[in-house]
Amino acid sequence: MKFKAMNDVLQHLDGDYNRRILADMIGIPSIIGNESKLANYIHRELTSIGIENQMVEIEPGRPNVYARIPGSRPGKRLHFNGHMDTVPVCEGWTLDPFTPTILGNRMVGLGASDMKAGLACIINMLRAFKLSGADFAGEISLSAVIDEEAYSKGTRAAMATDFAGCDAVVIAEAYSADETHAIPLGITGKILYEITVKGKAAHGFFPDKGINAIEESARILSALDRLNMRTHPNFGKGSLCTLKIEGGYQIYTVVVPDRCRFEINRMLVPGETSQMALQDMHELVRSLDLKAEVEIKLKPPVYESFIMQRNEPILQILDEVYPLVTGKKPHYAYTSVITDANVITGEHGIPCLHLGPPMGNIHQPDEYVLVDWLEPVSRMYAMIAERFLSEA
Ligand SMILES: [Zn+2]
Repeated sequence: MKFKAMNDVLQHLDGDYNRRILADMIGIPSIIGNESKLANYIHRELTSIGIENQMVEIEPGRPNVYARIPGSRPGKRLHFNGHMDTVPVCEGWTLDPFTPTILGNRMVGLGASDMKAGLACIINMLRAFKLSGADFAGEISLSAVIDEEAYSKGTRAAMATDFAGCDAVVIAEAYSADETHAIPLGITGKILYEITVKGKAAHGFFPDKGINAIEESARILSALDRLNMRTHPNFGKGSLCTLKIEGGYQIYTVVVPDRCRFEINRMLVPGETSQMALQDMHELVRSLDLKAEVEIKLKPPVYESFIMQRNEPILQILDEVYPLVTGKKPHYAYTSVITDANVITGEHGIPCLHLGPPMGNIHQPDEYVLVDWLEPVSRMYAMIAERFLSEA
């Protein structure tokens, strides 16, 4: 793309528009499972700008919105991703979570920071590309997705479309690249073990005649400190947390319990895959020589960890663009977190830049976004797209 065309794109960014659609989106509740009204809003907004887009139902009543602006000739494909769902309203809000409220430099509302502000900046950037008629190679696309706060069904579905063939993704999570919100260079993964121990029932007065599934389960749980867990230089070790256990009688009876089921959350560090983690648990159980039969499964959600190379083109472009917009250098870090990048990068190997206005009370009362971050973020989105799509 020529320099003049880029100026045109930047001139078409509109701060008033950005704030207005953010306020509109805060006013449309989109608590996880109920994303459809917001999807309709985004669909209508993109359509009114003249951007080709469609709503695609991922589950009944839960659509993603997909949009694309094709360039005038073949080239690289840059994809923007943002989730529409928010967490539920928690205790302690002093303001109405669904009425956008301006307090100084803050706009308060549920999802303001996580991540309606990022979505608004993406739409502002797409609008500027469309209105400017900028000539570029390749494609800019968007998936506005459901379910990030739970199972990532929206992004998993988007990655089952031809968006999986894109060259890089910008994900509008609240990382603004300052010291306290450093851009993730790599993130942890996580799995959920679902372990069913099958013993043998017998009269409870004669336990030796049966196999006690609860006691056998206890042997596994008390041996968890021997589970093979690898160390990563930037992350240290992952972690384990038993979340749930169930077994034994429903109505009081003196019977040796023949079933016990439990679930364990495990955080994975880069270098550990979900399949390795499954193997690790099989090895531990084998080493215990239990009498019961043990079934080990991974239960959704499964998130793979990842590390990106520091010289990924999308990160190098941020290195160039960030100082131009903010006057500072971007900060990067290895982060213990789960985002849709676990799907995009962890599973599909597509490099992913997290970038958005910084976190303000996310998953907490009176969530807010700093309004003066909207302009620089939408500007960086536009400049990143321009540079990424003008490379050979
Ligand atoms: Zn988020």
